[in-house]
Amino acid sequence: MVHKLAQQGVSSPEVLRAMGLTQRHLFVDSALVNQAYEDTSLPIGFGQTISKPNVVARMCELLVHESSVPLGRVLEIGTGCGYQAAVLSCLATEVYSLERIRGLHERARVNLRALRLPHVHLIFADGMQGYAAGAPYAAIIAAAGGEALPQAWLDQLAVGGRLVAPMQTGPGVQALVVVDRTASGFTRSILEPVMFVPLKSGVV
Ligand code: SAH
Repeated sequence: MVHKLAQQGVSSPEVLRAMGLTQRHLFVDSALVNQAYEDTSLPIGFGQTISKPNVVARMCELLVHESSVPLGRVLEIGTGCGYQAAVLSCLATEVYSLERIRGLHERARVNLRALRLPHVHLIFADGMQGYAAGAPYAAIIAAAGGEALPQAWLDQLAVGGRLVAPMQTGPGVQALVVVDRTASGFTRSILEPVMFVPLKSGVV
């Protein structure tokens, strides 16, 4: 899988190492284990999916960009099965990951327990509010896309920090958006089209 990611253009050694260290088969249903290292998203229950390895690697590479690894505190919105949180744990000093579906939050807790990652904090909460207790963040990454970026995410991004998230950029079009916070404000770039599950408010 790592070899394929490199062929697809992922070049950051830190990201390739993190992808190599994180065993994706531990995060999917036993019936799907034989597909765990294919470049495809897979169902994780509750109508949600584990992101494609290529997309996880691409977003991590955007987060790392010119920063030195490990990044400081990172906020993830959408824990899902916990796979991306485990990848991020190889790249950051602390990972705060928010999930709005209790059943998935609990599943991620079970999946991550065996890996013993004390610097990964799983929180059952609506990620639209961010997580002020851990702010400011060196990086914020969302695994679900809405019509706009919640203000709380921008507020909780450190100066010098970077946010990467899917967002609706036109009717029926979702793209990756990168926001950098500088001393003088925010700069925003819109990158390639993507397909993420919707960002929803409230918890269930
Ligand atoms: N990073 C995950 C991807 C899971 S899919 C993985 O590696 O498996 C995206 C997740 O975002 C879903 O579990 C969905 O429930 C969650 N989500 C959507 N809106 C959310 C919100 N407002 N707050 C927290 N999580 C949210």
